[in-house]
Amino acid sequence: MPPTIAFPSTPAPSKNAAWQQRSRRHVWHPCTQSIRLEAVPPLPIARGEGVWLFDHDGRRYLDATSSWWVNLFGHAHPAINAALKDQLDKLSHVMLAGCTHAPAVELAERLAALTGHALGHCFYASDGASAVEIALKMSFHAWRNAGRSGKQNFVAVRRGYHGETLGALHVTDVPVFRDAYAPLLANAHLVASPDARTARPGEHAADVARRAAAELEALLAERHASIAAVIVEPLVQCATGMAMHDPEYLRLVRALCDRYEVHLIADEIAVGCGRTGTFFACEQAGIWPDFLCLSKGISGGYLPLALVMTRDAIYEGFVDDDVARSFLHSHSYTGNALACRAAIATLDLFEQEDALRRNCARGERLIGKLREGLRGMPVAHLRQCGMIAAFDVREPGARFAERFHLAARANGLLMRPIGATVYLMPPYVIGDDEIDLLVDATLATLQAVAAPSHADHAEGGRDAALA
Ligand SMILES: *Cc1c(COP(=O)(O)O)cnc(C)c1O
Repeated sequence: MPPTIAFPSTPAPSKNAAWQQRSRRHVWHPCTQSIRLEAVPPLPIARGEGVWLFDHDGRRYLDATSSWWVNLFGHAHPAINAALKDQLDKLSHVMLAGCTHAPAVELAERLAALTGHALGHCFYASDGASAVEIALKMSFHAWRNAGRSGKQNFVAVRRGYHGETLGALHVTDVPVFRDAYAPLLANAHLVASPDARTARPGEHAADVARRAAAELEALLAERHASIAAVIVEPLVQCATGMAMHDPEYLRLVRALCDRYEVHLIADEIAVGCGRTGTFFACEQAGIWPDFLCLSKGISGGYLPLALVMTRDAIYEGFVDDDVARSFLHSHSYTGNALACRAAIATLDLFEQEDALRRNCARGERLIGKLREGLRGMPVAHLRQCGMIAAFDVREPGARFAERFHLAARANGLLMRPIGATVYLMPPYVIGDDEIDLLVDATLATLQAVAAPSHADHAEGGRDAALA
């Protein structure tokens, strides 16, 4: 009898590869150097559930960046899904000029209550950058309404990030995003970052905060008559590589803004909604800004929604017969009912799940496991704030962020280091076992990638943009 011939089973054609090819052909991917798409093809995600994303070939990835910091309670959360399905059958969208609706009203009411009514009015937009634009325009306009039209300039913190539309970009100090468009941008004053990593020998984080605030004071003393507002990212400058600072900085900046009659804009787009341990990051300093920007997590990571909260007294300054005194700014989808409803469902989850308290325990487990696992590894500045943990890799070598990203994928993680900074910023619903898995896979990835090379490493944001 002739031997039976065993044909090797041909592997099923990859569905991922087909989506990657079609994507490359017609989708212009953001924050991506297109020439690297061959080496780093986008992950084609078919569905999400909890902290997991699934590709078209059935592999799963833990969403360790919360999909660019927007997802709070996991993908496809049953309660948010149900709220959206209910809202879909009632009202998806209606213009907010001349109309109003329950989700927009209820969300504004609940957010105001969360600030103890310090910030009583809420202006809606769609993306984080548009919230920043609105805060800048409102500040300038509020001063003009008060007869102080000379206040036209803004102060931003070095290596800060506030979005990439032209107004937001002018207060952003991340070279990779800014440099190409510099000729289009107005100039903002830049002041020192309170980044605790810049502590000199013997200094604490609060000393760095005082040093940075002293630089702001010198600027305001000289220029306050022409300055409308200072814009800060409270507690963590995320996009520049999770640079963390002492809350003392926010207290000092608040006091300086009061003294020199300058508005304080808190950009809580990344750090708000519980990410740092309190619902608003500013709460940890015991201050309120004059304008507070929220986006990213506010809709649970479901739909584009942004908003600017401000004091009733500032709102009152725009109430006038003269149209030029009213706030002249509108987006077509402002106050979108579905997005607002997703946000209300998200706020409900904060209450029902006691999310802030549980995050505290999860954050502790995350940093504890990391501290243990990183012992003896070539890393520095392990740091944590709420549900953000980060460390910097010494001598990361060329294309570190890209290599790490690819190796992490192979280990079932979706991660995008920023330059040499590796960060973990998972959804709040991550379980203990998933935290352990996340840390173990991160350490395995680091081991696989940490090449003892002395090649260049890109500065903040660059690798993030190119990975
Ligand atoms: C992401 C981010 C923005 C911009 O938000 P988009 O929705 O991406 O426009 C602004 N400020 C901070 C602090 C951010 O992290």
